[in-house]
Amino acid sequence: MIKLVNVNMSYRGKRVLEDINLEVAKGEILVVIGPSGSGKSTLLRLIIGLLKPTSGEIWVNGQEISPMNENELNQMRRHMGMVFQYSALFDSMSVGENVAFGLRQHTDMPEEDIQKVVRSRLRMVGLSGHETDMPNELSGGMKKRVSLARAIAINPEIVLYDEPTAGLDPIISTTIDRLIASTRRRLGVTSIVVTHHMSSAFNLADRMIMINDGRIIEQGGIDDIRRSENRLVQKFIQGWT
Ligand code: ATP
Ligand code: MG
Repeated sequence: MIKLVNVNMSYRGKRVLEDINLEVAKGEILVVIGPSGSGKSTLLRLIIGLLKPTSGEIWVNGQEISPMNENELNQMRRHMGMVFQYSALFDSMSVGENVAFGLRQHTDMPEEDIQKVVRSRLRMVGLSGHETDMPNELSGGMKKRVSLARAIAINPEIVLYDEPTAGLDPIISTTIDRLIASTRRRLGVTSIVVTHHMSSAFNLADRMIMINDGRIIEQGGIDDIRRSENRLVQKFIQGWT
């Protein structure tokens, strides 16, 4: 479903990801942990084709994405949703318009059906009746839930979540974690979740990787990570960083 082979990424000569090899199977939830600046958001941006790797191959649904032009990338993104680190809602659009955005851009679905999908996705995230609210009227947690509804509106096969619970209180964080889990269950999506919250990580993960300084320093199931003998991993999961 998603495969990275020997991926390197540099920004203006500065290496931020080094020799990344990774596979995510269909329907799996991969959790990515690692310190600030270690390259987690860069990894997600590469997978959705917003950045091109300096070298290496990135495969999504059996297709290599590096050689793709903008048209082909847009085709691929019909099957992908992303929840950005800083919500990134369109401030001039209502909640309903935000959620409908991908459907309008990627499909020729009739307006009536678009509205049905919008209602169903807002119901899934517990925001029924908020269609006409504007983003600046919402709390941080509500914005996150709208961006989640927007990411899953197009019935994606893959959803990338970049710190979906950052800055949220524990109750809303738990709600978001449940949404991520139920999205996988209901829509069968393949998910990559970047998080600093170890409780979220251990609740959600089928598999985890830890990135440090642009390299994968540990990977495996939850127990493998918990029992890792790598000092950095232990420090990180015990909250010392
Ligand atoms: P955080 O946990 O703080 O979100 P992260 O693991 O997501 O961090 P990235 O955003 O991927 O880290 O950044 C990795 C490195 O790449 C950092 O050193 C950052 O300064 C650098 N970087 C990120 N984006 C750019 C850019 N557009 N131009 C130059 N350098 C960048
Ligand atoms: Mg980031």
